[in-house]
Amino acid sequence: MNLLDYLPGVPDFPKPGILFRDISPLLANPNAFKEATLQLEALAQQFDYSHILGIESRGFIFGTALAYQAHKGLALARKPNKLPLASHRESYGLEYGLDSLEIAQSTLPAGARILIVDDVLATGGTIIAASKLLKKAGFDVAGALTLLEIDGLNGSKILSQTGIANKTVLV
Ligand code: IMP
Repeated sequence: MNLLDYLPGVPDFPKPGILFRDISPLLANPNAFKEATLQLEALAQQFDYSHILGIESRGFIFGTALAYQAHKGLALARKPNKLPLASHRESYGLEYGLDSLEIAQSTLPAGARILIVDDVLATGGTIIAASKLLKKAGFDVAGALTLLEIDGLNGSKILSQTGIANKTVLV
């Protein structure tokens, strides 16, 4: 099974010039979703981590599936003003705009080592912001894991240069 077949590119979304990879066909196919989860879990084994941080919103989907498969705890990095007990916020630039992430420090135990999970790695800005957020809160970042890296944006290289170990299932 080629998982890329289930991640079609949608041109000019959400802005002209962006080829947006749509994960909906993969989620709609139970074999593809299962295979994606198993491949994420195989890569996750290469990290020394105690908890997963899923990034809103598509990172929640794969973060949750991985947390279940790997039997790890899950924390949520949320978009602004969603968390009743948000403790930290980090703003960042996206391939197509500006956004922020928040976490509630009390969700994770002291000494947790966190694996950041998202669906897609593009420029790396989102994962770098998530990593800064975790460090601000005093947690160790084990690394970052994504289902797909968008080719040509150097996201993986940028994360590595920033000191964030990272792996992706597909490029
Ligand atoms: P980055 O911060 O530039 O690496 O962008 C990654 C973030 O934007 C992730 O949270 C993705 O969910 C989202 N994203 C960027 N490009 C795509 C795409 O082509 N398909 C789905 N999500 C994308």
